[in-house]
Amino acid sequence: MRVSKVLKAVCGFSREVVIVSAELIEDDRPILRVRVRAKQRRRGRCGRCGTLASWFDNGDGERSWRHIDAGHATVEITATARRVDCSQCGPTVAQVPWARHNSAFTRSFEDLVVHDAIVGNKQAAADRYGTSWRAVNNMCIRVAQEALERVDLLDGLTAIAIDEVKVQEGPQVPDRRV
Ligand SMILES: [Zn+2]
Repeated sequence: MRVSKVLKAVCGFSREVVIVSAELIEDDRPILRVRVRAKQRRRGRCGRCGTLASWFDNGDGERSWRHIDAGHATVEITATARRVDCSQCGPTVAQVPWARHNSAFTRSFEDLVVHDAIVGNKQAAADRYGTSWRAVNNMCIRVAQEALERVDLLDGLTAIAIDEVKVQEGPQVPDRRV
């Protein structure tokens, strides 16, 4: 079996993600660095609004995202954060299948940490995954915003709250701890 096939299954990536290479960095706690790229498309999607747009440039180049651990290893995903020229937002980092916009963590890592924040609390989740309370708070905001965009507002649901994070339609209620 090819290594890339194993890595893809271990990382839980969809067919939209192509594994470019991987390296293991030996440390107290090993780091598995997996370099990926999104499947090549003629146009990309704006990371902010999701509109199809033509490619602009390679942005600031290489970026990395913390992913769910693989056994004893910390997993780090790296890729070139290409930009598109969106007609609404201007040059913006393109959407990637593995992470939400403007985050240093992958989508599945955020989902896992937010789940822990819900069943426990944000500080416990931050301690468990070695991140900060603020990072967990921002993950909760991104997940709640995404959830709110998906629901049918005609059903009368206008706000979603996770722990002290509240996301609602219209003016936002400031979180007193931010
Ligand atoms: Zn846009």
